[in-house]
Amino acid sequence: MCPRCLRAGSTCICQWITPLQSGVELLILQHPLEVGNAKNSARLLHLSVQPSVMVAGEAFEPAALAAMLEEGGRTPVLLYPDTPGDRSLGIAPPPALDAGVLRDPARLRLVIVDATWRKSRKMLYLNPVLQTLPRYTLRAMPPSHYRIRKAHAPDQLSTLEAAAYALMQIDTEPARWQGLLDAFDGFVAQQLRQVPA
Ligand SMILES: [Zn+2]
Repeated sequence: MCPRCLRAGSTCICQWITPLQSGVELLILQHPLEVGNAKNSARLLHLSVQPSVMVAGEAFEPAALAAMLEEGGRTPVLLYPDTPGDRSLGIAPPPALDAGVLRDPARLRLVIVDATWRKSRKMLYLNPVLQTLPRYTLRAMPPSHYRIRKAHAPDQLSTLEAAAYALMQIDTEPARWQGLLDAFDGFVAQQLRQVPA
């Protein structure tokens, strides 16, 4: 077992770790079903980007989650599409995102829900404080390179890709995030080789 990526020797993904210093801090909320999933991309994201915090859970203790969101005085923004249909599920509409917040990445915390689409909505429902966060929405994304998991919609990206594109759009040096996407392609190719024919 590799102590860094927590995978068995031959499946170790540490060769794909691309260390990148970020102004924006990542807070990755990982659904428990993703923790042991070999195809999951969030750990590679977490190991590559600094600063980054990753915690596993579905329904978080509200005070603990609020503390993680506000830690260090950063402004939390949820990386999540606007989903008006979710109002009928009892999910409150998000507040508007103040564009000024995006101009100072060092004061920003990008909150990322690492789960399938269904489970991510459940996590939103179960953690009302996430509903109170303004959302950062990706627009006009290229098709996903995530060939190892079935996507539910053509524009649905892996957690790593979604975060990389968001950082590209927010960061003052967008080009450097391409390295993370290139490493992700290597990770995907490795997973494909390990899938039994
Ligand atoms: Zn490893």
